[in-house]
Amino acid sequence: MDLATLIRNVPDFPKPGIQFKDITTVLLDAAAFHEIIDGWRARYAEHEITKIVGVEARGFIFGGALAYAMSLPFVPARKRGKLPAPTLSETFQLEYGTDTVEMHEDAITAGDRVLLVDDLLATGGTMAAVARLVRRLGGEVVEAAFVVELPPLRGREALRGIPVHCLVEFMVA
Ligand code: AMP
Repeated sequence: MDLATLIRNVPDFPKPGIQFKDITTVLLDAAAFHEIIDGWRARYAEHEITKIVGVEARGFIFGGALAYAMSLPFVPARKRGKLPAPTLSETFQLEYGTDTVEMHEDAITAGDRVLLVDDLLATGGTMAAVARLVRRLGGEVVEAAFVVELPPLRGREALRGIPVHCLVEFMVA
């Protein structure tokens, strides 16, 4: 599987200057989707993961599939106001302004060993906030897994202290 060629680049989406890495074209290739999930299942088989957290929205696709494949519980980390029961929130910096992620406060319990999953690592702000939520609830972040990394945006620095695993990188952000 040549994952890099399966990812569609959409220039100037959602705004001018952004090179959007569209993973829906990966999902259209059932064999490639399988290979990603099966590869992660093998990678994490011995990590004693107890829960998988997926980040809205595309992290739900990969994280949900992996949780099913590994027979593990799945926890959604969502944007502000989407989760119905009591939540914890973390706010993080964007280029202009801030954003907030939330998690149900009963979704993680002390001692959970958590794998974080999203489609793409850019600045790392989103995943760093999700990691803070997990830790506030007493969970241990074992690793953060992404399909795509944009190294120029230095997400690994924002996530320092957390092991990061990515399948493909693009040097243009
Ligand atoms: P960040 O917090 O900067 O690491 O951004 C990560 C989140 O924004 C992920 O949920 C990605 O899906 C999305 N994202 C950021 N930049 C891009 C991009 N160039 N192409 C596709 N998705 C992106």
